[in-house]
Amino acid sequence: MNKIFTMVGCLVMAPLALCAQTISSPDGALKVNLSVNADGTPQYSVVYKGREVIMNSPLGLTTSIGDFTKGLKQDKITDAKAVNGSYDLPNAKKAHFEFNAVEQTVSYSKEGKAAFNVTFHVDNNNVAFRYQMMPQRDRLACLVNSESTSFAMPEGTKTYLCPAMTPQTGFARTAPSYETYYEYGADMGKNGHGRGFTYPALFNVKYPAQGKVKKGEPVRPSDIWVMLCETNVDGNYCGGRLENKGNVYTIAYPEDTEFGGVGTSAPGIMLPGYTPWRTITVGETLAPVAETSIMWDLVTPRYKASQNYKYGRATWSWIIRMDASCNYKEQQEYIDFAAAMGYEYVLIDALWDSNIGYDNMKKLVAYAKTKNVGVYLWYNSNGYWNDAPQGPRGKMHRMLERRQEMAWLKEAGVKGLKIDFVGSDKQQTMQMYEDILIDANEYGLEIIFHGCTLPRGWERMFPNFISCEAVRASENLAFGQYDNDIEALAATIHPVLRNAVGNMDFGGSTLNKHYSKDNVHGKTRVTSDVYALATAVLFQTPVQNFAVAPNNLTDAPAWALDFMKAVPTCWKDMKFIDGVPGKYIVLARQALDGKWYVAGVNATKEPLKLNIDLPMFAAKQSVKLYLNNGVTDAKVSAKKNMTVTIPSNGGVVVM
Ligand code: CA
Repeated sequence: MNKIFTMVGCLVMAPLALCAQTISSPDGALKVNLSVNADGTPQYSVVYKGREVIMNSPLGLTTSIGDFTKGLKQDKITDAKAVNGSYDLPNAKKAHFEFNAVEQTVSYSKEGKAAFNVTFHVDNNNVAFRYQMMPQRDRLACLVNSESTSFAMPEGTKTYLCPAMTPQTGFARTAPSYETYYEYGADMGKNGHGRGFTYPALFNVKYPAQGKVKKGEPVRPSDIWVMLCETNVDGNYCGGRLENKGNVYTIAYPEDTEFGGVGTSAPGIMLPGYTPWRTITVGETLAPVAETSIMWDLVTPRYKASQNYKYGRATWSWIIRMDASCNYKEQQEYIDFAAAMGYEYVLIDALWDSNIGYDNMKKLVAYAKTKNVGVYLWYNSNGYWNDAPQGPRGKMHRMLERRQEMAWLKEAGVKGLKIDFVGSDKQQTMQMYEDILIDANEYGLEIIFHGCTLPRGWERMFPNFISCEAVRASENLAFGQYDNDIEALAATIHPVLRNAVGNMDFGGSTLNKHYSKDNVHGKTRVTSDVYALATAVLFQTPVQNFAVAPNNLTDAPAWALDFMKAVPTCWKDMKFIDGVPGKYIVLARQALDGKWYVAGVNATKEPLKLNIDLPMFAAKQSVKLYLNNGVTDAKVSAKKNMTVTIPSNGGVVVM
């Protein structure tokens, strides 16, 4: 533990900074400054390596039992406490995490009565904070109507944000589900499509060049990456988003119209009660963002895993053959295909209840078992909040039906569920996600949510949680050519942003040229086969529903098929190597057996020459290099790097 410096006590002589404190990270590079302004609004700012990354921004809550945004007094701050931890997380982007942070809690009062406390958790690259709202007289519960919690970004900051969707729009009123296009390097002040942005939110803060550095003076970075997110969200609260005005991003709650208008947009809490942790991750490169553990450091498992959950790869007919393929014969073909690939699972998508039926499904699951293939089944989450018609419906949203269904699923030998169309971040919806996960664990089922919210710490909170979609995923490649034309663009941001905070059910890596059964008709893929392999590494989730198809056994190159047979889905470690979202990305993941996979894609219009750092390999080590539509033997240089030229819409894998 390095020196922890805390300025304690109020500077009564300074009229505007009525009460100021600084909370510092263990290495001292990251600092949170606290103050209260003249009208009693609590404020904080964040400084990294001498640069302000979040300018003075308000803290405060408006509740059903009072306005706690102004007229507040800062009372006391606890001493800096070192908080360290380490834990295993087999279903997340790394199998093991460690953290080393400082925590301090500051108390605020209004008219002489305790209002709320804010606990700050600061490590060398992350600031997290949460409110603890205090009871007021005999009131032991409240609604939190809004927050003034904001993030004021320095002028000139560029943004990498995903606009929030309009509730009750999209397919069968299933929005919001985090499925809009990112903007890359956009100016601030747009507020998305008029209703803000979803988490995770990425910013690049730019500073003037420092000029000549005097002896003993620290060199300060000229740009800093900042990611905003939140964690520890379950049925105790709602999910948040960010409303944007000018350079200020303010935490907003779900809209009234979400979830079919059912349930309040304001969360209700027991008092004293907590908000989720709001997180700020900072770094001079994207490495601290891509590699952050902050989503899981601050949460605890809600229950014990009922069994040793198994992860792996799945075949999935729907992405290439759509609804028509949901019949006994073709699902049997995909089970055989999964067995031929050595995959652990098959995912049987929508309409199986009517097109295959419960009795035949039992037979199909038994057949898959003889091939060592586990079965995942699709469910509609509905429910009374949208019009998605696909079956099975009405089985997952209420406890009685759900537990009866899960008892049947366990008896049939089903291993996991993909539950679709769960749009909304309301507290009532979060409670449903949580209830489904709890029941599923009792019946030994793994859970993938699709058309849904972002996981917020769920990999650790819920041991049978596999992934959420919460991204514009592969289905859009089957639906529209535009998504194919920009396919590589999206792959430059997901590994460092969406996957930084949680597992992502993308369902990609097709080796088909076209999204159709005959591989002639349908939307055209513009990316290369090496790109498909690279994204199998770049996109992370412990159960991958790959978009490979039985025809690939004969029409795809053997080197590509062999790679897809061997690629793992669980990782010991990961490292950001290089990249800028919107242009290119290179990232390394280490398999559980120790083998490193370094993967990259190029979304620019031209071939991209890169010198890739390979610190995880030995100097002059022989490696396999996937590039330019093939695999060759190559050597890492004496300086542990390698120069490659990645084609436009192409990829690279070094292993
Ligand atoms: Ca979707």
